[in-house]
Amino acid sequence: MSRLRVTSVVPLTPRMTRLTFTGPGLGELGTWPDQQLKLLFPKPGRSAHVSNAPDVGTWYQAYMAMPEDERPWMRSFTVRSLTDGVLTIDFVLHGDNGPASQWASQAQIGDVIGRFGPSPDYARPLGEADLLVFAGDETALPAIASLLELLPDTRRRQVFVEVADPAEEQDVPGVRWIHRSAGEDLVSVVTAADVPADAWVWLGGEASAVRALRRHFVGLGVSKKDIEFAGYWRRTLTQDDAPTADDLAEAQERIAALSE
Ligand SMILES: Cc1cc2nc3c(=O)[nH]c(=O)nc-3n(C[C@H](O)[C@H](O)[C@H](O)COP(=O)(O)OP(=O)(O)OC[C@H]3O[C@@H](n4cnc5c(N)ncnc54)[C@H](O)[C@@H]3O)c2cc1C
Repeated sequence: MSRLRVTSVVPLTPRMTRLTFTGPGLGELGTWPDQQLKLLFPKPGRSAHVSNAPDVGTWYQAYMAMPEDERPWMRSFTVRSLTDGVLTIDFVLHGDNGPASQWASQAQIGDVIGRFGPSPDYARPLGEADLLVFAGDETALPAIASLLELLPDTRRRQVFVEVADPAEEQDVPGVRWIHRSAGEDLVSVVTAADVPADAWVWLGGEASAVRALRRHFVGLGVSKKDIEFAGYWRRTLTQDDAPTADDLAEAQERIAALSE
């Protein structure tokens, strides 16, 4: 586990805040598209530190070996950028009902959390197809924006991002913004779009929406190996809750798609 220290706090929109961090090892990390990492948030009166329990091989075992009341909350996030050892992460402020959101809404310069990753084992290349489709909600916006920044202007793309309302839009070129405040939703808008079967598709966001969109694109004839997908959060369930039957089926599908 490595420590991350907050070096700046910048509100991007009413519901999204950008934090930058410094910390050991950041300067040596490589960069690749869609970098994901685990962040560790301290429980009240505790630290974000994960003790290195003896006889424990991997970081996850060390983490799980901690007594539950000391074990920090662990949540997944995306590297928005990593430049000269400065890590930038954009946090959705979805309310005080989750430790990550609550922490981010109150974060101050000097606060310390922990990180595992990002690991190049999770690096996935962009598709070669003529048309790339990106669809997600605000939690996926950091990933989508960082992927688009790497995409040459010549690559054709369709980009769909669902946010609460127009105040949540960011300066990301070419996005079809979908506003919940206007009664729109990601699944309805994306399934109505004209996408050819030879497209490459990237999906991230609320788990049931991602599943519905994946089913839609498979139904359109898009090859499963050309659909990158991940449920980023689950309605009513936290990231600590056990996987549902749908989550397990999704995990199996992801493994199967990798070996196709
Ligand atoms: C690979 C990956 C990358 C991610 N990257 C980012 C990122 O860069 N920025 C980011 O903000 N999030 C990102 N997420 C999503 C983030 O991990 C989840 O939103 C996570 O649940 C937040 O933790 P929490 O402690 O705030 O809430 P939790 O304790 O996990 O959940 C508490 C409650 O909040 C609800 N909830 C969780 N997220 C949301 C939401 N977005 N909107 C409304 N309700 C919600 C849950 O349904 C639950 O009822 C990513 C997820 C994955 C898997």
